[in-house]
Amino acid sequence: MRHADLRKQIIQTALQLNTTGLSAGSSGNVSARVEDEGFLITPSGVKYHKLRAKDIVLVDFDGGVRGRLAPSSEWRLHLDIYKQRPEAKAIVHAHPPYATALACLNKGIPAFHYMVAAAGGKDIRCCRYELFGTQELSDAVREALQGRRACLMGHHGLVAFGDDLEKAMSLAVEVEVLAQQYQLVLQMGEPKLLSDAEMDDVLHRFLSYGDNAQKAKD
Ligand SMILES: [Zn+2]
Repeated sequence: MRHADLRKQIIQTALQLNTTGLSAGSSGNVSARVEDEGFLITPSGVKYHKLRAKDIVLVDFDGGVRGRLAPSSEWRLHLDIYKQRPEAKAIVHAHPPYATALACLNKGIPAFHYMVAAAGGKDIRCCRYELFGTQELSDAVREALQGRRACLMGHHGLVAFGDDLEKAMSLAVEVEVLAQQYQLVLQMGEPKLLSDAEMDDVLHRFLSYGDNAQKAKD
């Protein structure tokens, strides 16, 4: 895809962070891989409705920046995910209320519902707290993402990646919905979790659907 089209898609996805309630104001950030070059990412501190295509910043795989604005303060996190996970083509990071509330208790999301497998495993982990924008945070997130496409970030928010911007965004929304459902369940009692064998069946079924776990919700 051409840079220009990808820049437009990144802005559309960033606007969805506001409209879906995943992030208010300009918190969170969105990026997309540009093969052999690096990735395009939203800039730091610009409200999404004011973003223009030329504001999107290109960061190369050595951390070099090309753009008129500074990249999002979490660019390091995006860079490390793209370097370590070749299947990651787009990343969404946000501070949505329910996922962040769990993350503030350092709680991940266990297998209380089969859709937890949408993130790629039997649970969705929460990484330890580290200061925003640091290598330490990036390291903690990469550990929590082992075998997963999404995780919560301790006292911070969530991150999700996918084959493209649409899939990364829909996984971020799915994780927020699961976090909300999990909190509703916890208000009523301690849920019985699905067993390893039950989650294996779900993961196997998701694989047979291809990468599109959304189909499993029909
Ligand atoms: Zn953040």
